[in-house]
Amino acid sequence: MEEEVKVLLAALDGLMPALPSQHAVYQVAQIKESAERILRLSNDISAAQLGSRKKIQEMSGEVVGSNPYSRLMALKRMGIVNNYENIRNFSVAIVGVGGVGSVAAEMLTRCGIGRLLLFDYDTVELANMNRLFFRPQQAGMSKTDAAVETLADINPDVVLEGYKLNVSTVDGFEKFMEALSKDFKGMQRESKSRVDLVLSCVDNYEARMVVNQACNELGQTWMESGVSEDAVSGHIQLLVPGETACFACAPPLVVASGVDERTLKREGVCAASLPTTMGIIAGLLVQNALKYLLSFGNITKYLGYSALKDFFPTMEMLPNPQCSNASCLQRQCEYAENKPFRDALEKARAEAELANAALVSKVALHEDNEWNISLIDEDEVQANIDTPSEFLPDGLSRELPASEKQVLIEDDFPETELDLDDLQRQFQTLNAD
Ligand SMILES: [Zn+2]
Repeated sequence: MEEEVKVLLAALDGLMPALPSQHAVYQVAQIKESAERILRLSNDISAAQLGSRKKIQEMSGEVVGSNPYSRLMALKRMGIVNNYENIRNFSVAIVGVGGVGSVAAEMLTRCGIGRLLLFDYDTVELANMNRLFFRPQQAGMSKTDAAVETLADINPDVVLEGYKLNVSTVDGFEKFMEALSKDFKGMQRESKSRVDLVLSCVDNYEARMVVNQACNELGQTWMESGVSEDAVSGHIQLLVPGETACFACAPPLVVASGVDERTLKREGVCAASLPTTMGIIAGLLVQNALKYLLSFGNITKYLGYSALKDFFPTMEMLPNPQCSNASCLQRQCEYAENKPFRDALEKARAEAELANAALVSKVALHEDNEWNISLIDEDEVQANIDTPSEFLPDGLSRELPASEKQVLIEDDFPETELDLDDLQRQFQTLNAD
């Protein structure tokens, strides 16, 4: 393109001396100006394309400004995550790419997840602009296409698969199951599902029951999320088929009573939504997903959020032996059958941890302690705290003396009769000597 425009410009230059009139020169000059504008635009487009980075083969922890993963790999050095680079081996499916799902997708993309499968049948509207992620110029595009376009630009290392389908239809459910079962990087897995986690970010119970059905059938762990219609509360929940309650074990009243939730919507009234609540729930969801995938910290079973009271309730729900979902009952049986194996594994792990702890304490007490490292009894530290006002939560200890102590130290200085003027005179005398 650039070359062709350059040839055209050269041809126009060649024409100039032979032109018969001033008018013809003016017209050719106008054409030249347009051609030069096209050349500039073409250069801008090439520069923008060069701006999106190339794929990176290996995640590195190198601390340079050009490494998009340096801050994430630093989690290893900080002792939070042992194996951050493993994130590239994980596939996560997000059902519903709306206010929560799109933000969750962006977070996982920026974290360098291996593969993202996005499911939604909706299109982007200007009415979605009060939330994060989508841009006004994407209005009219399918949410999956718009999301793939943006996410591919943010991180080209992530394998992105957009599925424009409604999982609640018969055909959609089949394709959803097919997509979850598709292989990734030829990885061997024990389960029927080929994804590591499903995140439900849908806005209706029918779709949640569908995701529940699919995950129960596949024995697939998933996380559910939701934001209330008044936009000021939400929750996330971990669902492990057979181990925790499934969505049908304790169904919401609308589902249990068999009412079609679409009939509950009032004409001309839409649900409220806030980018803040949506962003908070997406953050809590992806935080839990990262902890689950990379095995660090406490993986929450249920975490609620009430914006008006700043209240974060937590709870755990065991599966219901009378659950209406047949696949859930089947997973519950398998979970019970596997109990001896899990117990043996847990015992072996506990024994290994004990042996490891014993080894560490033996090394710490070794006589050849050339660094003079000494262990301080935590009880002693506690005993050194004098007043109740200096109480610190468990696990924290003071490095500097408390404020009362500092006052005492200052009071210990000997009283002097000299004022500032006397001291200044003494100083000048010394300098004069
Ligand atoms: Zn159940």
